[in-house]
Amino acid sequence: MTTLNDRNDACSRLNEGVLDLLVIGGGIVGSGVARDAAMRGLRVGLVEQHDFASGTSSRSSRLLHGGLRYLEQGRVFLVREASLEKKIIHQIAPHLAEPLGFIFPTYRGEGRPLWQLRLGVKIYDWLCSGRNFQPSRGLSSVETLGKVSSLQSEGLAGAVYYFDALTNDARLVIDSLRSAAAHGAVIANYVRFHDSRWENSIWQCRVEDCETGIEQSIRTRAIVNATGPWADRIPHSDVKLRLSKGIHIVIDRSKLSVPSAVVITEGKRILFVIPWGERVIIGTTDTDYQGPPEAVTTDSNDVEYVLRAVNAFFPRIGLATDDIVSVWAGLRPLIANPDGSPSDISRAHQIRCPEPFWWDIAGGKLTTYRLMAEQAVDQIVKKLNIRAAACRTASEPLLSQPQMNAFSGIKPAPFSKAAVEHFVRQEWAVHLEDVLVRRSGWYYYDRLTLADAERVADWMAAAANWSVERKRVELEKLTSTLRLGQPPAWSSAAIEIH
Ligand code: FAD
Repeated sequence: MTTLNDRNDACSRLNEGVLDLLVIGGGIVGSGVARDAAMRGLRVGLVEQHDFASGTSSRSSRLLHGGLRYLEQGRVFLVREASLEKKIIHQIAPHLAEPLGFIFPTYRGEGRPLWQLRLGVKIYDWLCSGRNFQPSRGLSSVETLGKVSSLQSEGLAGAVYYFDALTNDARLVIDSLRSAAAHGAVIANYVRFHDSRWENSIWQCRVEDCETGIEQSIRTRAIVNATGPWADRIPHSDVKLRLSKGIHIVIDRSKLSVPSAVVITEGKRILFVIPWGERVIIGTTDTDYQGPPEAVTTDSNDVEYVLRAVNAFFPRIGLATDDIVSVWAGLRPLIANPDGSPSDISRAHQIRCPEPFWWDIAGGKLTTYRLMAEQAVDQIVKKLNIRAAACRTASEPLLSQPQMNAFSGIKPAPFSKAAVEHFVRQEWAVHLEDVLVRRSGWYYYDRLTLADAERVADWMAAAANWSVERKRVELEKLTSTLRLGQPPAWSSAAIEIH
């Protein structure tokens, strides 16, 4: 059956005629570029080597934020840019942007003094054009403990209370792609870009359908390399990256009951304790990473670091590895400094055109994806000399109201056959893992058992016409990469990229 977002149909449409723009990479940046360009009337194609959002864009802290800590580094422009963007995402995708209060406690004689934090959050509100979700305020130590009673009370000087928003990173990607497809973009997951050559003012690209191994060619007038941590490995790319790993753990909220997010510190670093329905997300770490991007995993050192930080701030809870429901590890695709000094690595984004009609777009944050896309598409439209509509992504809702509410939100949709059918027929879910990890998030939120996975496999088999053998292979593949019904094994928590 051909459905709205049929992958096979997309694969064959990708090599019909000449595209205006081919986007490589189906993370948040590629999705944002595809949506923006399609809305302006360009003929757009997007290829993703694995599943959409399987890279960094499903492994973040899920915050839409200006980045309070960048203020400390004097990066006022960066904070202002991201602060305005977090409000824009809240407007265009309210189902994926839930305003969230953050309590940032401080202790006498340690870390940042209270006066500095109070001043910082006022500047933070002001950088959001004075229209942050709610105004920030200071809290005395008694007020702080009134809100979070399990917090370490000894030496507590007080806290500040400020606002950012919680999102669902993978859903933001999928919904952006649904919007891009609705505006005519041709979108295909499990299609890898191999190489391209510039011939007669057209890029001739060689891509591979990773499901069949069949190679095909795509012709396009322009290319955007939006491959995040892979960006410096793509032929023709001029990007220099420094990859930094960050991990998160998910625990039950009954173990650590927090009414709002809490910022905790470990030396100069800050970590977030983020309420997520009946769960709490805690992270992140920041360590240099040298291996292949697809091999990133959470290891026991990462987990111990996070547990140590949490137990220092919440000494009565005694958080241990057995309390962990799920984990994820991701890579920040940071733009490298020529001298490579870690302290100078910028979190800003970079859009460059090193070869004719080839753009590299790298760095940045989930929060600023829309702006990155707007700036890139502005350049592309100008260079292609196309009469295109103006950018509308800051004002046009990501999806219509009923679409927003069905199966997409910050918390996973209820476990149901209808949800699985929707993910398969409308959202390009090809494998069992696509549904469990990125479309629904059930893998991270629920302690899934093998029986749960088998039920989803049955529903998927019916929706996608799988044979008995295909269902068996999917279940086998899933259980070899994800552990079900038992504490996650750090070494096997990576999502395989084949
Ligand atoms: P990706 O999401 O990695 O997408 C790139 C895609 O390109 C991948 O899916 C990959 O498979 C594909 N690809 C690679 N090679 C090819 C090829 N040859 N052919 C086809 N496809 C290919 N930002 C925030 O704003 N808020 C946060 O709270 C936040 N927290 C973070 C926490 C952590 C631990 C990390 C690591 C990052 C965090 N970020 C946050 C940053 C944010 O997540 C990233 O900036 C963003 O997700 C990067 O998106 P991307 O599209 O550039 O990369």
